[in-house]
Amino acid sequence: MVKKLVVASNNHNKIREIKQIFSKYPIEILSMKEVGVNIDIEEDGVTFSENAYKKAETVYRILEQKAMVLADDSGLMVKGLNGEPGVHSARFAGEHGNDKKNNEKLLKLLKNKDRESRKAKFLCTIVLIEDLNKVIRVQGEVEGLICEEERGSNKFGYDPLFYVPEYNMTFGEMPAELKNSISHRAKALEKLKREMKKYIEREI
Ligand code: IMP
Repeated sequence: MVKKLVVASNNHNKIREIKQIFSKYPIEILSMKEVGVNIDIEEDGVTFSENAYKKAETVYRILEQKAMVLADDSGLMVKGLNGEPGVHSARFAGEHGNDKKNNEKLLKLLKNKDRESRKAKFLCTIVLIEDLNKVIRVQGEVEGLICEEERGSNKFGYDPLFYVPEYNMTFGEMPAELKNSISHRAKALEKLKREMKKYIEREI
């Protein structure tokens, strides 16, 4: 029997990425919209894990525990800013999802700061609820530096400011396939895939 897995997100990119990863498995990936859940869940936790669990659990309960639910939460942590923006990444400059203002604020706070202060990492936590007694949590991270000006045409979030020394490029300059093979989300999804493989093999 094909299992259903609902992704507690309205972000098309995330859903596409997850569908691609599970394409060879007997699991049907569905967005919230496809199962008729049209809600906005407030991300008010103090950790990525708390937020991801809240999103997954809310949708799991709305669906009356009839499908597995996956949620993720991610953000940027900067050394010289004591880990900020962290869980506030999407609304760092006040308004949710205003990438331009968020990047301007980050540049301003790091103006004249040294390389050590500019060290940063992206983190991604994924929570999968199979049932309320069986919750999988995985995390992925990628390290880099915040550069002094935006670079690259990929404008998603902090991508133009996140420089990865090994590739001498910002996430904004990287081809999507490269970013999606080394990113925090890719690493978390890779771990999830390994966990799910055990689950799928057990079920078959
Ligand atoms: P969320 O996980 O969708 O809540 O994302 C939180 C915020 O973190 C986004 O709005 C972006 O500002 C930032 N973020 C998370 N992942 C990335 C990424 O891969 N590139 C750039 N910014 C990101």
